[in-house]
Amino acid sequence: MEQIPVYPDVLELDKAELHLHLDGSLRLETMLEIAEIENIEIPGNNTLALKKQCVYENEENFTLTKFLNYFYFTLKFLQTKYALTRTAYELLEDLSHENVKLAEIRFAPQLHRINGLTLGEVVDAVLEGINKGMNDFDIKSGLILCILRGLKLKLAHEVVDIADEYRDRGVIGVDLAGDESKFPLEMYRHPLLIAGQKGLNITIHAGETGPVEEIKTAVFDLNAKRIGHGIAIVKDPPLIQVLAEKKVTLEICPTSNIQTCVAKSYAHHPVNLIYQKGGLVTINSDNRLISDTNISKELSKMIYFFHWTIDDIKKVIQNAFDASFIK
Ligand SMILES: [Zn+2]
Repeated sequence: MEQIPVYPDVLELDKAELHLHLDGSLRLETMLEIAEIENIEIPGNNTLALKKQCVYENEENFTLTKFLNYFYFTLKFLQTKYALTRTAYELLEDLSHENVKLAEIRFAPQLHRINGLTLGEVVDAVLEGINKGMNDFDIKSGLILCILRGLKLKLAHEVVDIADEYRDRGVIGVDLAGDESKFPLEMYRHPLLIAGQKGLNITIHAGETGPVEEIKTAVFDLNAKRIGHGIAIVKDPPLIQVLAEKKVTLEICPTSNIQTCVAKSYAHHPVNLIYQKGGLVTINSDNRLISDTNISKELSKMIYFFHWTIDDIKKVIQNAFDASFIK
């Protein structure tokens, strides 16, 4: 990927990040240590070898489906309470170094039960890390639980139930994540409707690899307040206005979209058009490790490629503070 400088002005600003996956945002050094502690077999025994397994490298005809394979690797390192607490804590530490003052962290708790942890234990462990992080660093945070496309409906309902159970203990909402091209939103309508009935905040990965209709279903049928990615909206300009009027915010993750080949390049990325047409855009990193990025880099790319001013940057940061589920 093209390396773009991080602008000091961007680094200095207080920032909010809404779309960040825990399992895509580990430190390589921590993965090595967890591998040692938990006897996880890894290729080589150094960060360079590890990097090859879980950091995107330029590849032709890459797809979201292939991209998601990186997570199957990182998930091996997130199967104990210790690992979940530590990585959540370190993520807040890393974010605080960039002046991120508010961060919503998301993950799919069902994927962390290989060693027999209950869903409650998984969520507790991550919340412990988040609470410790909030205590030690100048940052507010909350947890979004992801329903995963491809998993059985019963498991989706369990995520909604546990999000409801933990709503006053650090869980701030639910998401639908995973492979949109293989598992359309329609399949998860029922659990998401129930989440809405329970009054849970809903964000949905939609219009990432899928069509604009997925965004409409998410917003108009399922009451999503935010859309993960949502870049397909560029094909329906009037919808950009409609969503802005409804205060539905887009969590756009530019680098991630280029890596999964839904956008050809930064210059071709629809974020600028959506922003210019009045969309409530926020800029996010999606996955710090897997995409080798962070929010400061992503915001800097908006200046570099689209000549956004620092006021534009401040505006999209404010959009993120305004749309946060953290109260
Ligand atoms: Zn995502």
